[in-house]
Amino acid sequence: MATIGECMPVVPTDPAAVADLAAKLDADLVVVAPDDPLVAGVVDAVQAAGIRAFGPNAAAAKLEGSKAWMKDVLVAAGVPTARYATFTAGQETAADAFLETLPGLYVVKTDGLAAGKGVVVTQSIAQARDAVRAYLSGAAFGDAGRTCVIEEGLTGPEVSVFALCDGRRAQVIAAAQDHKRAFDGDQGPNTGGMGAYSPVPFVGSDVVDGMMERVVLPTLAELERRGAPFRGALYCGLMLTPEGTKVLEYNVRFGDPETQVLVPRFTSDLFVHLSESAAGALATPIELSDASCVGVVLAAAGYPPAPDRKGDVITGLDLAAAHEGVVVFHSGTGHDDRGQLVTNGGRVLTVTAVGSDVAAARTRAYAAAAEITWPGVHYRHDIGAQALS
Ligand code: AMP
Repeated sequence: MATIGECMPVVPTDPAAVADLAAKLDADLVVVAPDDPLVAGVVDAVQAAGIRAFGPNAAAAKLEGSKAWMKDVLVAAGVPTARYATFTAGQETAADAFLETLPGLYVVKTDGLAAGKGVVVTQSIAQARDAVRAYLSGAAFGDAGRTCVIEEGLTGPEVSVFALCDGRRAQVIAAAQDHKRAFDGDQGPNTGGMGAYSPVPFVGSDVVDGMMERVVLPTLAELERRGAPFRGALYCGLMLTPEGTKVLEYNVRFGDPETQVLVPRFTSDLFVHLSESAAGALATPIELSDASCVGVVLAAAGYPPAPDRKGDVITGLDLAAAHEGVVVFHSGTGHDDRGQLVTNGGRVLTVTAVGSDVAAARTRAYAAAAEITWPGVHYRHDIGAQALS
């Protein structure tokens, strides 16, 4: 961000502080990107100061802030989703009974935000029972887990579809596919995402169009009925099951790494779209190039699950960024006291490249990624491979 604009210190989850800063800067548009500030009501505060803010207000951000509420909205809207029930502390026995009704794959989720770590998917009912107890007691995730959602496990390929919404209307942007597991071949622990690509060749325009009628518009109508009309980016996490497409979850924002492979494909002006969404007046059609984009996440040694190493000097970034079609996004980077670019743990960089198809984009992304090194850097080598097979 610092290469394209001035960065200012502010506590991002403090609604009044962000609104004050926006007023001081005489901002035209405030884009509230992450989940915590959205749930905390930063959009509400900025709007109250008379400034346009992109993203849902706190009432609509509850769609991501409470999984129990989200599931309730999905069912009320008639959107296909996994069968579920919600439990709170003291209901462990009832939770066990519900688990018994599920066919062999058990999913236990915290109701509240848990930095992407509050989901257990297991074939072991004993492990599911243990997770329920660890969540409901508060031992695992504090208050975020004292209410939990248990779901039947679904199977099939996962894809994400993004829609831009203005409260009532929506435009589907595109589909992307993330790679959640840490290592090649979908092995190893779950992560925040090790890479993504867009578009997804096996998600036809019929799926994308159907999303509008069966998922996005019914959800918007239900949220409006509840007095929480949704403006902003709606990220639909989908599973293509043998019984059809089902919604696993919503995020109320442009999540990473998928957004990093969507943004390079925009040929229309992103500012115009965000501004129209914030004003409740979507009008300009979104236009994307036909190019494919592949993004490879470069992670720090030990990620996940260790809090991992920080402070390793990153080299080769300029060489990578000079490759044709390449944009490198920073996530876990910082500067040391000598001003050198260093790792700050976790997922450090995403190297993205556009190309005429997924194969061409992959070749470019991996060639650029190979220029970048630090001690212990690791990444998956099969991002986008599913699209080729
Ligand atoms: P969530 O935070 O709800 O998206 O869950 C994180 C990940 O858990 C998803 O990307 C899926 O891989 C997996 N997951 C969530 N719900 C289910 C489900 N009902 N069946 C199978 N896998 C699931």
